[in-house]
Amino acid sequence: MGFITHFRKRLYDALGPYGQGYFNRWRYRLGVLPRVDLGSLGSGSRGSRKACLVISADLELAWGWRYLRHTSDPLAVALRLAAETRRNVPALLDLFDRLDVPITWAVVGHLFLRSCRRRGGMAHPQLPRPPRFENEMWSFRRGDWYDADPCSDYRSEPAWYAPDLIRAILSAKVKHEIACHTFSHIDCSDQRCPSEVMDAELAECLRLARRWGIELRSFVFPGNFVGNLASLRKYGFTAYRWHGRHQLGMPQRDEHGLWRIPGGVYWEKLEGWSTAAWVRALRRCIDRALETGTMLHLWFHPSCERVNVEEVFPATLEYAALHRDRLQILTMGDLVRAMENEEEAPSRGRRASARRSARLAHDPQ
Ligand SMILES: [Zn+2]
Ligand SMILES: [Zn+2]
Repeated sequence: MGFITHFRKRLYDALGPYGQGYFNRWRYRLGVLPRVDLGSLGSGSRGSRKACLVISADLELAWGWRYLRHTSDPLAVALRLAAETRRNVPALLDLFDRLDVPITWAVVGHLFLRSCRRRGGMAHPQLPRPPRFENEMWSFRRGDWYDADPCSDYRSEPAWYAPDLIRAILSAKVKHEIACHTFSHIDCSDQRCPSEVMDAELAECLRLARRWGIELRSFVFPGNFVGNLASLRKYGFTAYRWHGRHQLGMPQRDEHGLWRIPGGVYWEKLEGWSTAAWVRALRRCIDRALETGTMLHLWFHPSCERVNVEEVFPATLEYAALHRDRLQILTMGDLVRAMENEEEAPSRGRRASARRSARLAHDPQ
C-alpha cells in the first residue's frame, strides 16, 4: 500500500462509522460514488455487456462474532446476532422468492451439522487450531479456538448449528447457491493462517456439504481477510469475493486462475443515513450498472437490523425488478459460468475459423 493510500485509509478509519456514513452520503450526492472499475471491463466490451446484480449473504450465526474486539462481552453479542439471523432468514427467503432473486449464501461449515460432541474432552479434535492472533476485528488471545462450541445439537443450541436454515434455503422456490465461509470462521490471511489450517477447514466443509448433495465452488473470506488462495484452488473452488475501492466492475482472474468477484457495496443501511437516502444511493448504483454494463454486488449479514429486511432490501429489489430485461440477477456461481462461456466463445470462434481455413485449403476447386 502506497503512502497516500495508507494515509487516506487512516483518515477514513478515524472518521468512525457516523463520520464515514456522513462522508459517503456526500460522495453519493455529488456523484463521486458509485465508482466504476473501467480497467476490469476488457477492451471492446464496455457497454456491450448486459448489467448484472449479484447478492451474497454471510451466514454464520454466532460463529462470526465470538472473538469480536472492542466489546466487553463478545459471546453475548454473538448470541444476540445469531438470534437476529434466525429471525430474519425466513423473511429474507420469502422476499427472494417473491421477487425471484437467487442469492449466494456463504455458510460457515459448522452450521451443516445437526450436532457435535467432545472427544477426549475436545471439540473437533481432528481439526488444527489457528495460532493466537489479533486483527482489526477479532482477538483470539487465550483458551482453545473452539471454547464457545457447545458440543450439543441444533435444538438445544440453535446459535451454533443450522441444518434447519440450510434445508429452508435449499427448499426455497428460487435456486440459491450455497458457498463456503470456512468451517469455524477463521482469519484466512497468509500472515495469520497457516496453510494446514486452511486446508483442513476447506476439506471439512467440502465433506459436510457433500453429505447434503452440495458442491461448494464459491468462497467468501470471513471478515474479508483474503489469503491462502493456493488452498482455494487446490480444493476446487473457482471464485471468491474480493473488496477493492470500486462499487462496480467485472470479475477478473487472479494469478491462481480463480475468479476475483468484486464485493461492491455493503447492502445494509449505515449510520448517518436515512432509509430513503440509502435506497436512493442503491438505486443510483443499479442505474450506473445498467449504463456501464457492469456488475453490482451487494453483500450483507442476515443478522442485519430489521429495517433492511423490511424496507431497504425490498425497495432495492423492486427497483431492480423494473429493469429485469436489462439486468441479470445471478449467483456468484452463475456469474463464473457466464464469464467462462464468454472466455470460451472467442476461442470457439477461432477454432471454427481454423477448421474453415483447413477445409478451404483442402477444397479442390
Ligand atoms: Zn462443534
Ligand atoms: Zn463472516
